[in-house]
Amino acid sequence: MKVVGVTGGIGSGKTTVCQIFEHLNVPIYYADSRAKELMASNSDLKADIIKSFGEDSYTNGQLNRPYLAKLVFTSPEKLALLNSLVHPAVANDFEGWLEENDTVPYVLKEAAILFESGAYQDVNTSVLVIAPEDVRLQRVMKRDGSSKEEVLQRMKNQWTQERKAKLADHIINNDGTQLLIPQVLELHKKFSGK
Ligand code: ATP
Repeated sequence: MKVVGVTGGIGSGKTTVCQIFEHLNVPIYYADSRAKELMASNSDLKADIIKSFGEDSYTNGQLNRPYLAKLVFTSPEKLALLNSLVHPAVANDFEGWLEENDTVPYVLKEAAILFESGAYQDVNTSVLVIAPEDVRLQRVMKRDGSSKEEVLQRMKNQWTQERKAKLADHIINNDGTQLLIPQVLELHKKFSGK
């Protein structure tokens, strides 16, 4: 069974692309949302986060997302530290998930920082979803009601599309000029060996 990593910058449309694969019954592991769940539920991980970022990381046992987000989105060092705590927990969880989904030709793993984190080396092949920065910015501001500055700040912590494209095995263009479904169907055919 193949593991296909799907990534793309903020607002590129990776979740939208994964939703199309979902319609084709491909199992998908959403690494970023799973990471958030684990930060809320995994007691070892919670203890590590409190040790590194302080008691304010949790309020009444719940992850204090605004507090942590403010810390990590303005400091690459703190972001790297948080990632170094969260990634082993997610990797472990992913291994368990893979065992439960080992009856299909391939699964997808969606992760925002597949290349930045080095996780692309652990997948069999990778898909990068691309769209111009201004399009991504507009989409995220509309989706989240975020300010331009907030989105640009988050973009700064990610590699440029050009840097990621050099490492990507496949590219889906989501700039609005090409339909997504035919691009997904072509990759599905390839990955499922049909
Ligand atoms: P993030 O990194 O923030 O999780 P993402 O890469 O998963 O973002 P999506 O959430 O899939 O991106 O897309 C961002 C927004 O743009 C969503 O509101 C989505 O509905 C919209 N969108 C995605 N693709 C298109 C498209 N081709 N045309 C118009 N809107 C789109």
